[in-house]
Amino acid sequence: MIKQSSPVKHRFHQGVVLNILIIPFAATLFAITVGLGWVSGKDLILFGAFSFAVALGVTVGYHRMLTHYSFHANPVVKLILLILGVWSLEGTPLTWATTHLEHHANADKDADPHSPMKSLWHAHAGWLFNKRRIDPNIYAQKQLNDPIVMFVTKTAGFWAILGLVLPFLLGGWSGFIWAGLVRVFVVHHVTWSVNSLGHSFGTQDFNKGHDLSTNNWLIGVLALGEGWHNNHHAFPKSAFHGLKWYQIDISGMFIRLLGFLHLANDICVVPKQAIMAKQMAASKKGVEAHM
Ligand SMILES: [Zn+2]
Ligand SMILES: [Zn+2]
Repeated sequence: MIKQSSPVKHRFHQGVVLNILIIPFAATLFAITVGLGWVSGKDLILFGAFSFAVALGVTVGYHRMLTHYSFHANPVVKLILLILGVWSLEGTPLTWATTHLEHHANADKDADPHSPMKSLWHAHAGWLFNKRRIDPNIYAQKQLNDPIVMFVTKTAGFWAILGLVLPFLLGGWSGFIWAGLVRVFVVHHVTWSVNSLGHSFGTQDFNKGHDLSTNNWLIGVLALGEGWHNNHHAFPKSAFHGLKWYQIDISGMFIRLLGFLHLANDICVVPKQAIMAKQMAASKKGVEAHM
């Protein structure tokens, strides 16, 4: 039976969005100015470890596994990846997947929730303040019927708090600032750069004329492979966003490792012929556009 879920009218309360934007920003400003004098090696290690784990929660967990079903993970791995995704404070698994699928369905058209067609700021974080209808019944039926996804969605508040309490338990107040708040700030802006810069600056190997998605090496590195965003819009289900040897894709390498350890299966790899065919279509379109 297909479950129905009532649409979420507002992504967050406006005040919550402001807090999610301003508190990590203020903490980061404090940490890199006043706080830099007393930062310890332990703080930096905690910051690096939490940032990397949560970024993987977003890229491998929320994006490639949850939203696009690019691979199937062992249930325990799936649970851990989704909880790490919640730690990003970018929404529950269900709201994140719904918004992102809405983006793919309407990329750079009027109904795109975060296209830079409106403005770069809108695509980056301005869209979070928009009152809009998030309807999983339209975009995320599969996720609605996934018990692990729904369990983490319903208990997301608990996991989100745990993601801030743990850095405190491990590193005290400085651990909380660096591995909690500064980490939230960094992961937020790297993720949002894929939506803003990754639809504005870079090159297009595919989808010319369809959307504005680009391949951008800087975001490719910073966002653990998500910056090969033009490749991703051309082949959304692919577990690997880096399609050329020099397109470093750390999330793709992590999925490969999960597969090697038998913790992931049904890993989606795009056949070379399909890539070549799309690339030829794109260059033909480019030639036509110059005629
Ligand atoms: Zn996109
Ligand atoms: Zn996607």
